[in-house]
Amino acid sequence: MSWESSALFYELLNELTKERLGGLHSARVLMSSVDFAEIAELQHAGEWARAGEVLADEARRLEAAGAELLVLCTNTMHKVADDITAAVSIPFLHLGDATGRAVVEAGLARVALLGTRFTMEQDFYVDRVASYGVEVIVPEPDQRELVHRIIYDELVLGVVADASRTAYEQVIAALVDRGAQGVILGCTEIELLVGADNSPVPIFPTTLIHARAALDAALAP
Ligand code: GLU
Repeated sequence: MSWESSALFYELLNELTKERLGGLHSARVLMSSVDFAEIAELQHAGEWARAGEVLADEARRLEAAGAELLVLCTNTMHKVADDITAAVSIPFLHLGDATGRAVVEAGLARVALLGTRFTMEQDFYVDRVASYGVEVIVPEPDQRELVHRIIYDELVLGVVADASRTAYEQVIAALVDRGAQGVILGCTEIELLVGADNSPVPIFPTTLIHARAALDAALAP
């Protein structure tokens, strides 16, 4: 949703396409890139219905332009996934489903979720992942605030700071102490900051998971 993670998604989708199909193949993509300032304002004002209308409009535009599969490249805005699916007739690949499946495939039962305050504290994403039979835990309130602040003050602006990486490592360590067997990087910008090297347990980078799932769906017979 911030262009920083949209750019990463686009790059990963094309890298994976090249890996899978070889040669000069690249991904056929219609991208609707929004003004994130407008979306972030609606999020923080709690104006989810309006945000749902904005994204439903974008989805309609993409379907009219010929898209056959829809992905929404942000975990947070899956809060309004129903508004989007109601607006189009093409399939919508829910990021919570792709993530839930990845955790189950890894054989884990209890995972931690890092993301925006909205994603960690509301039920739209936690419940979707939990519906795969997985227990989802989130950081304590002060650490949720820290994780959220680093996303909105730094990562969506392309600022990747060592001090913030260390802070995230500490949050992850506390979650592992509470029994997390894996960590969902449930905000598409977090994998710009931390990766497998920053966690003693497996991580689930949602931008990569989403790109893989989109390609699988696009190439399915
Ligand atoms: N990209 C982030 C996410 O995956 C947060 C910013 C946004 O709302 O898109 O949740």
